Amino acid sequence: EKTPVTLLGLGAMGAALARTWLAAGHPLTVWNRTPSRAAALATEGADVAGTAAEAVAANTLIVLCLLDDTSVADVLAGIDLTDRDLVNLTTSTPAQARARAEWARERGARYLDGGIMAVPPMIGVPEAGGYVFYSGSRELFERNQETLSVPAGTTYVGEDAGFAALHDVALLSAMYGMFAGAAHAFALIRKEDIDPAALAPLLADWLVAVAPAVHQTAGQLRSGDYAKGVVSNLAMQVAGIPTFLSTAEQQGVSPELLSPYFELMRRRLAEGSGEEDLTGVIDLLVN
Ligand code: NDP
Repeated sequence: EKTPVTLLGLGAMGAALARTWLAAGHPLTVWNRTPSRAAALATEGADVAGTAAEAVAANTLIVLCLLDDTSVADVLAGIDLTDRDLVNLTTSTPAQARARAEWARERGARYLDGGIMAVPPMIGVPEAGGYVFYSGSRELFERNQETLSVPAGTTYVGEDAGFAALHDVALLSAMYGMFAGAAHAFALIRKEDIDPAALAPLLADWLVAVAPAVHQTAGQLRSGDYAKGVVSNLAMQVAGIPTFLSTAEQQGVSPELLSPYFELMRRRLAEGSGEEDLTGVIDLLVN
């Protein structure tokens, strides 16, 4: 017997989730503010509830995939949540997730928050490598893990309901740093007779080659020894900064994406940490 699922929210992501549960044979009850989106799923086997309250009453497992935390408050306002398993896949901040967990507890519901590390085309496609961070009730997670694994992989990161959102934002923040670096790299060659399509594979391979440096960073953070295993020390790297800035200037490229990081490297060096790795920059960021 497949666990029946109620899903509130049939936007791009919600509809993708819905189709995987239907395909896997889970009875599915759906509701969406704009009814036409639910009607499309009815033809694929979903039960369409007339109201959000009816959808919540239909099953124990309630998955939310709405725009933001405000829409969750709007949709669930006044609905009896007693003894429900709420799984909230709506993107939120850690503080919103923690407040929502407390809010659910006060209403007699169990709560699991989720942060989706995938775009809709990756849902239901295990090879695509998408997954969902979960945090909050471990009991809820473990009891429903099979059902939650249908749309994408699952990574449980702790009882603190805010941790899924925190992991989600941490990974996406690192992604933006990577995109910023790649934008600068493409800008450097923009006016030259270099095909961006020739640079792209070099760039992709290089980013993959240097990415494992995060393991060394983690080891240094845990031990507190930021010079442990250092290959390219901070003094040497700061000495190289003029090369980056001069090259950018020569190519007519603004240094604005790189400069903030260089500034932190220089500040850390000024504190006398020349023999260390770049890890000390992290301490400068944390207030
Ligand atoms: P969409 O904009 O496609 O859908 C938004 C959904 O929220 C719709 O079902 C919409 O209903 C509903 N909604 C919005 N406001 C309200 C409200 N006030 N009351 C009731 N329902 C409301 O977004 P997605 O499906 O793409 O995203 C859903 C969640 O998934 C978001 O939190 C997003 O951050 C997250 N996510 C999305 C990813 C993506 O690539 N799409 C990737 C990772 C996470 P209606 O149809 O009536 O407008």
